[in-house]
Amino acid sequence: MVTRPTIGVLAVQGDVREHLGVLAGLGVDARTVRRPAELDDCDGLVVPGGESTTMAKLARTFDLLEPLRQRVKEGLPVFGTCAGMIMLADRVEDGVPGQETIGGLDITVRRNAFGRQVDSFEGDLELVGLTGPVHAVFIRAPWVESVGEDVEVLARVPHGPAVGRIVAVRQGPLMATSFHPEVGGDPRVHRLFVDLVEGHGSLDHRG
Ligand code: GLN
Repeated sequence: MVTRPTIGVLAVQGDVREHLGVLAGLGVDARTVRRPAELDDCDGLVVPGGESTTMAKLARTFDLLEPLRQRVKEGLPVFGTCAGMIMLADRVEDGVPGQETIGGLDITVRRNAFGRQVDSFEGDLELVGLTGPVHAVFIRAPWVESVGEDVEVLARVPHGPAVGRIVAVRQGPLMATSFHPEVGGDPRVHRLFVDLVEGHGSLDHRG
C-alpha cells in the first residue's frame, strides 16, 4: 500500500493544469512530468487530453516515450483521458501514418470517432465502481472500437447515435476514459485511479 502517493501528469502538451488541480484536491502529491528523471519519482501517472499525434511526437523528442513504455511494462498505474486514452492504446484507427503510442492497453481506439457534427458534447453515464452517474464531457473524443480479453469495460455511451460504444476501460493498473473527468468538478473518477495507485479501492478485486 502506498500512502500519499506521488502522481505525475505528463506535461508535454494538453490539459495538464486541470488534472493537477483535481489530483491536488484529492490530497496526493501531484506534479508535472517532462523529463525521464521526473517519471522515476512517480507512483502513478496521468496522461491528459490534448492532441495525441503532437503529444507522441513531443514525448519522443523529450526522450520520454521509451521510459514511459518501460514503466508501463513494469506495472506503473496510468490513467489516460481522451488523447491520453489514445496514448495508452496498443492500436489506433484513423491515426496519422506512423502514429506512435505508449501502448499497454489491449484496445483498438478510433480517433475523432464521434464525427464532426457531434464532436463535442456532454452527458451522464454509469461507470463501474461508482454509485450514481458521472457527467462526461467529450471533446473530439475517441471511442474504443474493440478490447482484448483482459480489458474490463467500465462505461459505454448510454443513448444517442453512438449508443453502446465503449468510453471507459481498465486493464490491471491502466485506466482510460474517452471523456474529460478533469473538467466539471466531480473528482470521483480520479479518486478511483488514486485508489488503484494506493493499492485498494472498488476496482481492485477485478484483476
Ligand atoms: N482528437 C484528439 C486526438 O486525436 C483528442 C482530443 C482530446 O484529447 N480532447 O488526439
